Amino acid sequence: MIRDAETHQILLHTIARFVREKLVPAEEEVASSDRIPPQILAEMKAIGLFGLTVPEEFGGFGLTMEEEVDVTFELTRASPAFRSIVGTNNGIGAQGIVIDGTPLQRSTYLPRLASGELIGSFALTEPGAGSDAASLVTSARRDKDEYVLNGTKRYITNAPEAGLFTVMARTGGPGAQGVSAFIVERERAGLTVGPADKKMGQRGAHTADVIFEDCRVPAANLIGEREGQGFKTAMKVLDKGRLTIAAACVGSATRMLEDTLAYTSQRKQFGQPVAEFQLVQALLADSQCELYAARAMVVDAARRRDKGEDVSLHASCCKLFASEACGRIADRCVQAFGGAGYISDYPIERFYRDVRLFRIYEGTSQIQQLIIGRGLVKQGSLVRV
Ligand SMILES: Cc1cc2nc3c(=O)[nH]c(=O)nc-3n(C[C@H](O)[C@H](O)[C@H](O)COP(=O)(O)OP(=O)(O)OC[C@H]3O[C@@H](n4cnc5c(N)ncnc54)[C@H](O)[C@@H]3O)c2cc1C
Repeated sequence: MIRDAETHQILLHTIARFVREKLVPAEEEVASSDRIPPQILAEMKAIGLFGLTVPEEFGGFGLTMEEEVDVTFELTRASPAFRSIVGTNNGIGAQGIVIDGTPLQRSTYLPRLASGELIGSFALTEPGAGSDAASLVTSARRDKDEYVLNGTKRYITNAPEAGLFTVMARTGGPGAQGVSAFIVERERAGLTVGPADKKMGQRGAHTADVIFEDCRVPAANLIGEREGQGFKTAMKVLDKGRLTIAAACVGSATRMLEDTLAYTSQRKQFGQPVAEFQLVQALLADSQCELYAARAMVVDAARRRDKGEDVSLHASCCKLFASEACGRIADRCVQAFGGAGYISDYPIERFYRDVRLFRIYEGTSQIQQLIIGRGLVKQGSLVRV
């Protein structure tokens, strides 16, 4: 439910203008230099993009899920690299603390995450534990009033820039029940970040290994009331994250399709704009239908979450459908551009590579299929619509 529709519209307009005037013109520089210019980052902080979902009492906007997906639709009309840096503070990097943090953890860290002073990161994946995240082996051994962490986390978004990591580590026996979540500040002795990974796309957004070698954190940094709650926290965070990624797919697909409509309307062959050929219109039409469906799904799931419904299966449906549709749309758009789609003079070539990630992280498409299939069989009924 939108609390204050007028304030939300002002925020949306501010972000839409910022995207158009500042982010889109900077995309090329971000991709070629693999870094977001400090001036742009400072402006992103100034307009509050790092604290969109952090509760107002801690300095954020406290957006509802519906408001957040609306903002994400706008923000991801520019390169997904921009959303990546703010996405962790609004999502997986801060939500563990928002959802399950103690009052002291919330008041200590959330204001600094909301302002962008601290960049957040979410460290679940390991070299041997990706889709099977519950098999993680990073350990957290209790030693008096501290925990001692050992292990390696892989592909951690924002690790090179992060000041704060939410780390899932094993405190008990095998499986999900033995996992706890911890807040680990970057300056802790025994924490090192590896070199940034060389990626296919989303240049300007960085991932790296995070290595813990006898890294000591206070017992008070355990998220949740007791040990063994960390996997549940991570799954709650990912349910929300999957909706936001689905919204990012919608925003990126909107940009790609708008660019394609503009290009094909001015590119002439056989004496007419190529957009007037029905076979090109089929590419546009199929893409528009999928975009419409994906957007409607995401808005519906967000509204349900705001009403307090369990949207775990809805979120997986949204991520699966929107990310796969986004991939198909990217492919059709490149096709409609012809040779120009394969050449990096136009953003579509970059978007084609950038959006490939959406089908992989925060649970691959196959894992979403498993979650949905298992969920349907377990509940013996369909997803509520
Ligand atoms: C750019 C980037 C950013 C990332 N950011 C983060 C981050 O911030 N934090 C974090 O913790 N992780 C992050 N990840 C990790 C990401 O979530 C994992 O890569 C993803 O979950 C897949 O795990 P994996 O790479 O180990 O693939 P694997 O699990 O090895 O999967 C390989 C293939 O097998 C399939 N597969 C696996 N199990 C099954 C099964 N049971 N049934 C059918 N098919 C199956 C998969 O779908 C996939 O096609 C990031 C990854 C990338 C590339």
